[in-house]
Amino acid sequence: MNRVLLCLLLQWSMVNSQCSMIRAQSDRVDIDEWQVMKVEAAKDPFANRNQFTINFVNYTKEEWHYPLPGAKVNSPFGGERHHGGTDLKTFAGDTTRAAFPGEVILSGPFYAYGNCVILRHANGLETLYSHHSRNLVKVGQWLQPGDPVGLEGRTGRATGDHLHFETRVKGKAFDSSRIFDHEKGELRRQVFVVTKLKNGNLKFTAEKAK
Ligand SMILES: [Zn+2]
Repeated sequence: MNRVLLCLLLQWSMVNSQCSMIRAQSDRVDIDEWQVMKVEAAKDPFANRNQFTINFVNYTKEEWHYPLPGAKVNSPFGGERHHGGTDLKTFAGDTTRAAFPGEVILSGPFYAYGNCVILRHANGLETLYSHHSRNLVKVGQWLQPGDPVGLEGRTGRATGDHLHFETRVKGKAFDSSRIFDHEKGELRRQVFVVTKLKNGNLKFTAEKAK
């Protein structure tokens, strides 16, 4: 009788602890399991291929946000000074916003970038926001498009208050105006193709939706 009771108790406690494990896991599932998995995959968006595509054609309002609404381009990507990003300007203290859903992988002072935030997105891109007077996010935090990232400032190597914004693939910056129409503050509706060339360089092309 005692053995049976002990057995039952043991089973009950095992079931219970399994339940709490499942509960702990499902808390994370509630956050958005597919997003966690996809952002993990975005560490290497090429996987075993030399190309990946992002279909921006059907992106809904919930899937993207312009990083600094109302901004003017102060200094574009590239040019003579090999500018690694796009400088966007509104007013000091304005809020910069997450471009796509994703995870904060860096938040803090970062050399000439000053107070800098890097997000890794499920679509395979990373976005970088810098010169903030203050960062509003922590590493590991999950952001939705439009969530506050930081406050426009001039920390690091900056001559005036602005957002230095970068779009990246695996840490390599490319011209953000390939995916954002900065004049309109809009996402370009296209199928965006990133190809890894034999020499390791990246090629960016756009296709019309099929
Ligand atoms: Zn800049």
